[in-house]
Amino acid sequence: MTDVIDIPIREQLLERVKVQYAHGVDTIERAIRYAIEHHGSQLRASGDPYIVHPLEVAMVLCDLQMDVDSIVAGLLHDILEDTEVTPKELEEAFGPAVTKLVQGVTKLRRVKRKSRVDEEDLSEEQAENLRKMFLAMVDDVRVVIIKLADRLHNMRTLQYLPTEKQRRNARETLDIFAPLANRLGIWQLKWQLEDLSFRYLDSEHYREVARLLAEKRVERAAFLERVIARLHRELAGEGLRYRITGRPKHIYSIYRKMEQKERRFEEIYDLHGIRVITKTKGDCYHILGTVHSMWRPIHGEFDDYIAAPKENGYQSLHTAVMTEGGHPLEVQIRTEEMHNVAEYGVAAHWRYKEQIDADAEVESRVHLLRQALDLDSSDLNAQQFVDLFREDIIAERVYVFTPKGDIVDLPRGSTPVDFAYDIHSEIGHRCRGAKVDGRLVSLDYQLQSGERVEIITAKQGGPSRDWLNPHLNFVATQRARQKIRQWFRRERREQNIAAGRDILEREMRRLGLDQEAYAKIADLFRFRDIDDFMAALGYGDISASQIAHKLDESSSTSDELRLRAIPERAVSEVTVAGVGDLYTQIASCCQPVPGDQIVGYITRGKGVTVHRIDCPNVVNLRDTERLISVDWGGAHEQYPVGIEILGFDRPGLLHDISGEIMNMGINMSSVHVTADRDHQAHIICTIGIKGLGQLSDVMNRLLNVRDVMDVRRLRTSTSK
Ligand code: MN
Repeated sequence: MTDVIDIPIREQLLERVKVQYAHGVDTIERAIRYAIEHHGSQLRASGDPYIVHPLEVAMVLCDLQMDVDSIVAGLLHDILEDTEVTPKELEEAFGPAVTKLVQGVTKLRRVKRKSRVDEEDLSEEQAENLRKMFLAMVDDVRVVIIKLADRLHNMRTLQYLPTEKQRRNARETLDIFAPLANRLGIWQLKWQLEDLSFRYLDSEHYREVARLLAEKRVERAAFLERVIARLHRELAGEGLRYRITGRPKHIYSIYRKMEQKERRFEEIYDLHGIRVITKTKGDCYHILGTVHSMWRPIHGEFDDYIAAPKENGYQSLHTAVMTEGGHPLEVQIRTEEMHNVAEYGVAAHWRYKEQIDADAEVESRVHLLRQALDLDSSDLNAQQFVDLFREDIIAERVYVFTPKGDIVDLPRGSTPVDFAYDIHSEIGHRCRGAKVDGRLVSLDYQLQSGERVEIITAKQGGPSRDWLNPHLNFVATQRARQKIRQWFRRERREQNIAAGRDILEREMRRLGLDQEAYAKIADLFRFRDIDDFMAALGYGDISASQIAHKLDESSSTSDELRLRAIPERAVSEVTVAGVGDLYTQIASCCQPVPGDQIVGYITRGKGVTVHRIDCPNVVNLRDTERLISVDWGGAHEQYPVGIEILGFDRPGLLHDISGEIMNMGINMSSVHVTADRDHQAHIICTIGIKGLGQLSDVMNRLLNVRDVMDVRRLRTSTSK
């Protein structure tokens, strides 16, 4: 019914589309009809039918030569938020790719509403965080480009809004959107957004610069004509392919230069600027040489962005020279390709590609952008660069809001607990629950960028010990972990000691080491007082899994773990690694591994058999004369160990378990599975491992396998 309205922009767009997107005409026309139908009789503040807005946005995207999906998404970008259309309907009509783009734009719109941008001016840091949040929230950079096109048209029609809103939107554009366009290297959008914002934020200076520009227009044009003609003559004989253009003047950038360099309008060099666009990089330097031989270069005004591109990928040679009449002239020299990147940045990617199917390249570009984002200050030292780089790759960030609208920046995987500790350690300690966007979530919920997080606290009390358990994923940040440990450290010492003793006993039982003297272990960690050691374990400074590794390290190097209770014999040089003539073998009854306390048993004619010190066969031995002290030496062999796994019996359980073992590069030599009527699976297997540390690691990994309930080392072998 609204089809009858005469909308000139619609005809213009269709004309453009026919030329530019022959293969997409049908879809685009359908999207236009769909938008008209659903936006219906809605009106813009300007009094225009609402549909004019998405059509204009699509037009901007055409100017950038974005792909068909982007044009369609541009036409439909407000449809989910402002009409009754659901994502499902949209997907049925236009497919998942377009729907994802529209949903992305819609999501960004909500961010803005939640932020405190609406209330006050942003600090530079807040603005930076908001920009980062925007980029962190999009999987596809086209979403940001559509958003920028949307913003550009909104800025072009700002005059219809109340003054207060004009200022607010202009501020937001200058603080957030123009820098985003710059980050993405889309100069075409950046300068338009800047000039439009400037006009509303500082109309006095805007008008002044505009007037000065207009006054000198004729004079400037004549000057440029002269220098361009001279340069043509000079280059004529050189056999180069090139073109020379004047440079469009952007009001805000001129104003910024006047401010920064404290110069008057007449002193701004790039008022008189030309651009030479040529074929190859070599041509660029050639032309630069010619320019510098014609006119005297102005000191400090030369920049080689070809050798050292800007973070957003911009490449060009910049120089300023003094011409005959004493007029400064700015010259930019670049290739066609560099020119394309300079004007369209990330969007240039779509200019030569009809279709983008393999997202890989797009993804890698987005990734590079995200890197550039963190690396835009050039004064990072090498180490900081590496750190930032690593943080960016390994742990991407999430940006979430406090209820007041402040942005909190956390590593990906962070939970409400991390958030609470980031706000204040007291809030962390007393954190009992959380709401995300008004909805209750569990404390191990993984926060997503753009969410508003509210912490529910108890009046008093402290953190839960579970929060420190790395398998439960309650905390992802070092900061939260530290604060929680600190709290437990301050807690009553007795409690920590008891908890520590508990942890140690459990770990020893699990590893089958419950004969081990605790004082010795405390000693390995360099604790004189065993209670201090238990306390450290209790508040989490030492983790249970460190124990096996410590025992492992110590066994091959120190004498401390040698057995003193056993009568010493002369042959103390024997090691199980089989040094010397003595033949040694590992006892199959107790299967000792490096890290275990061991003893040798001299057999008749079979050399030495190595047992665990607590092996029943050794303990019950009458003939202690035949025991000798042995040492693991530097053995790197593999030793068979039996482990017992309890779990819930389900198809694939054994597969998952053996897969995990294989993934650690460990051999499994035998396996025996039984299951009872309660679906309790009981798995006994023999694996080849290098020492206690590895044994502890593999048991921890197995505990993480779904439906595994317990893993422990077998005290004695079942194979014999
Ligand atoms: Mn819009």
